[in-house]
Amino acid sequence: MNREEGLLIVLSGPSGVGKGTVCKQIRCRQKLQHLKYSVSATTRAPREGEANGVDYFFKQKEEFEDMINNGELLEWAKYVDNYYGTPYSFVQDQLKAGYDVILEIEVQGALQVRKRVGKEGIFIFLVPPNVEELKRRILERASETDESMNRRLKAMEQEMKLIQHYDYCVVNDDIQLTCELVESIVNAEHCKVER
Ligand code: 5GP
Repeated sequence: MNREEGLLIVLSGPSGVGKGTVCKQIRCRQKLQHLKYSVSATTRAPREGEANGVDYFFKQKEEFEDMINNGELLEWAKYVDNYYGTPYSFVQDQLKAGYDVILEIEVQGALQVRKRVGKEGIFIFLVPPNVEELKRRILERASETDESMNRRLKAMEQEMKLIQHYDYCVVNDDIQLTCELVESIVNAEHCKVER
């Protein structure tokens, strides 16, 4: 690992597990120095309160496909009929400048990043305390249609099987504890002796 560069942190796990909330909380807590958040591109419609360039870069399908074809994405995935992807240049620039970069992405994308960077990234899998709790959290999202919710639940069953590709697994039961665990993992990785 090149210590002059920042760490690439991939926070992943099933939809509804609370990845977004954990990321937002870590941001508010400001316990991790030099941390940047990657803003993804997506073709999904904005939810109420979401802003372009803050929550996502909202794109048309053709625009997103151009980004894929031009090699502008570190990873991308089609998830419940929409594209999601990580703009590559932001990540590269921030890492080179010495910042850690956190990606909050679903499982297919996380596996692509794993293939690209190997052991150079820190891969954290967030899991719900139990499946019933995850269903409750997804159902709570009034913005989802029944079909979208059912598909998210189906995707979740597959996603849970991919845990072995990750370095760490954190149970997201208590949000503050989850943030502390993620922060501890990042701090510990910074202290790691190179082999
Ligand atoms: P949502 O529609 O609920 O915002 O996101 C759906 C799923 O897409 C979530 O699991 C979220 O973490 C994931 N996601 C968000 N951005 C990206 C991205 O850039 N790449 C990938 N692969 N997944 C993403």
